[in-house]
Amino acid sequence: MSEMKYCQGPKCHTYQTKDRIRGPKGAKHYQTRRRSYFSYLGGNACSMNCQDDWFRKFGEQALNHFGRIHEPIKLTEENAWVKDYDYDWQSGTRSNWRWVNHLNYQSIPMTKEQYDNPNYTRPRRSTVVVVEATNGKGKVIQKDILRF
Ligand SMILES: [Zn+2]
Repeated sequence: MSEMKYCQGPKCHTYQTKDRIRGPKGAKHYQTRRRSYFSYLGGNACSMNCQDDWFRKFGEQALNHFGRIHEPIKLTEENAWVKDYDYDWQSGTRSNWRWVNHLNYQSIPMTKEQYDNPNYTRPRRSTVVVVEATNGKGKVIQKDILRF
């Protein structure tokens, strides 16, 4: 059971719909909607109107507070990786967890644990070098695997 919360739209109470009416006869008023789930403003506003009202009133402040973008953010092959998996709608099962690069469409398999790990944000490429030592007859007597 999720908690009830109020729509954060600053003008929500001014939209005169039946579901916003509260109070006894003679003292009726409209009030801000309260729900356990909202679909707008990241789950904080009851409607597109309320979302827009919020942004009109607070958007500028929010941008200034969290920092503006002053130069372009670039999508390069290094940061174009997104996590993906296949979903079977009939059985409801997931499989084939992987990294997919949205620029070059390369794909790198991963485990479900890696998919669920929020700290695993980029595939790490490593070079594996196998060093083999041989005896005089060419027989491998030692094998080392080095990762870079
Ligand atoms: Zn609202």
